[in-house]
Amino acid sequence: MTAAPPSILPEIEPEPNTVIDRLVISLFIIVPLLAVVAAVPVAWQFGLSWRNVVIAFAFYLVSGLGISMGFHRHFTHGSFKAARPLRLGLGIAGSLALEGPLLVWVADHRRHHKYSDRIGDPHSPWRFGTGAGAVARGFLWAHIGWMLDRSRTSQRRFCPDLQADSTASWVSRTFSVWAAVSLLAPALIGGLWTMSLPGALAAFFWAGLVRVALLHSVTWSVNSVCHLFGRREFQSRDMSTNNAWLAIPSFGESWHNLHHADPTCARHGVLRGQIDICARVTRWAELLGLASDVRWPDEQRLRQKMTTVAQGRRFTGMTSGRLACSRAHAGRRASKPLAP
Ligand SMILES: [Zn+2]
Ligand SMILES: [Zn+2]
Repeated sequence: MTAAPPSILPEIEPEPNTVIDRLVISLFIIVPLLAVVAAVPVAWQFGLSWRNVVIAFAFYLVSGLGISMGFHRHFTHGSFKAARPLRLGLGIAGSLALEGPLLVWVADHRRHHKYSDRIGDPHSPWRFGTGAGAVARGFLWAHIGWMLDRSRTSQRRFCPDLQADSTASWVSRTFSVWAAVSLLAPALIGGLWTMSLPGALAAFFWAGLVRVALLHSVTWSVNSVCHLFGRREFQSRDMSTNNAWLAIPSFGESWHNLHHADPTCARHGVLRGQIDICARVTRWAELLGLASDVRWPDEQRLRQKMTTVAQGRRFTGMTSGRLACSRAHAGRRASKPLAP
């Protein structure tokens, strides 16, 4: 019997999430959030050491880049090809964010792009309508509620490429290991650094729970805020927006309007001054030979999609044309004969 082509498979799995599944997801959401609520009284009572700030920052950086550069731009959209060590590293780093197994994340996100702000989008804030009450309800749905929905996006339909890929499917299957590492490694580092149990517990709290909650909130804000408020600088067939204030904590993901206008583009902040940390790290990976076929912004094509909101704005230097130009320039310099 031959397998059905992915395009005719159902988009939602026939088996919904079980009560246990939803309980586990709720714990992953609620426990870190409770830690954030407790953060101020804990800091007041016990203080917040610079060691814990360093450990939390390091884990935020690794897991946040794992989501933006790995789960999102590489695995979901194929914005660049990654050498196997980088591909594996990005898959593991993204899993440390505790946003679910890789294939679940990718399947949901590809469904989001397919239906973006229309019926079928798993987390549109416009789901309940456009009135004030409906939008407030939609915001909560896009931010958190959708994760507790019983329906599961079909991986066979939305990511057969990753199911067939040994690295991606292994990282996804071993998610529970990386979830444990994400919470226990900060505790281990904190314990060894201070050689004390209180040091381990404090690092678990700040660099484990609070760090996870902060990154969760930033990722969820891309789903909720970046489809509700902000600037629409490029034409897209949805309500996606660009938000500068979220650009640094989201590693550039909050230039979400451009992302929907050109989903496979490796840089989302394409206009001058739009900080995109993820794109910068991708460029370093490209220079090191770990990333290839990077889809840098095509200035000519994107200029045609610009709205009046972006009129007069100039593009960043990191576009395909300008990078090709600087490569050719460097090549010419390298092949120039030395002066006698
Ligand atoms: Zn979106
Ligand atoms: Zn996307």
